[in-house]
Amino acid sequence: MAGPSPITLCGSLSLFASPVGAAMHNAAYGELGLAFTYVPFSLEETQLADALIGMRALGIRGFGVSMPFKLSIMPLLDEIDPLARAIGAVNTVVNEHGKLVGHNTDAWGAVRALEEVQSVAGRRVLVLGAGGAARAVAFGLAEAGARVSVANRNQTKAEELVAELRGGTAEAVPLDTALGRGPEVIVNATSVGMESNPGQPIPAESIPSSTLVMDIVYKPLITAWLEGCRERGNPVIHGGRMLLHQAARQFQLYTGRGAPLTAMDRALREFV
Ligand code: NAP
Repeated sequence: MAGPSPITLCGSLSLFASPVGAAMHNAAYGELGLAFTYVPFSLEETQLADALIGMRALGIRGFGVSMPFKLSIMPLLDEIDPLARAIGAVNTVVNEHGKLVGHNTDAWGAVRALEEVQSVAGRRVLVLGAGGAARAVAFGLAEAGARVSVANRNQTKAEELVAELRGGTAEAVPLDTALGRGPEVIVNATSVGMESNPGQPIPAESIPSSTLVMDIVYKPLITAWLEGCRERGNPVIHGGRMLLHQAARQFQLYTGRGAPLTAMDRALREFV
């Protein structure tokens, strides 16, 4: 029988393979001299189950998972971490000796990105949006002890999201009065501000300049909204920090090592 492969393989599963994850992970492996490599794979939804059979057979250690597979992969896994189960989406699969375990590192990434600047426990945080990414952000923040408000264009979705959040202090608020609650932190977790969806989630000029503002959109890295907030004096965090920290958490899950953030960030900056 052949011995274990001298190189541990990780990768990503998406409809259109993106080079960004590979760049960050391979830079991290190189920085720490680990015998790991990361390959982005493109596939169709109908091939997902076969990809996981391959993962088991070949001993592939981890996969990052992009939309729309973050939902459809869930029933194909052996175990799902409780936070990912609550969020309802898996963006990372870890092969634990043949047992495939789903995680959601977007939640971790959002909280770490904010906590680089300010702790979130006990803070009033307004999350704009109630889509897939907003769910991860809101669950991560609630778990970290923030007092979460959610405002979304479709308010019913915001109400449904807060009803699922643990901790009991979350509330859904209408978009046009969301600032009335005096949030200390605002996170744009909508897709507004992307190159394909220009605009502002709420007017930058309505936000007090002391409020910490984070935009999770990372294409462009500095959205017009974030730039508007920065010009008005707000402390701001761009979407590259969440992207970096969610990948750093994946790295930690795959390798058991702390992630070399500077090397990963340098690699990320070549793409966004
Ligand atoms: P999604 O599930 O499609 O949700 C989109 C959200 O944006 C919904 O809340 C939607 O409101 C809102 N929205 C869209 N267009 C709008 C408009 N014109 N006016 C007001 N609200 C609008 O998308 P997603 O997967 O959550 O992704 C959202 C963003 O997060 C994307 O830019 C994505 O690239 C980014 N993201 C970043 C990271 C990171 O690591 N930085 C990770 C994941 C995702 P309705 O519910 O009313 O439609």
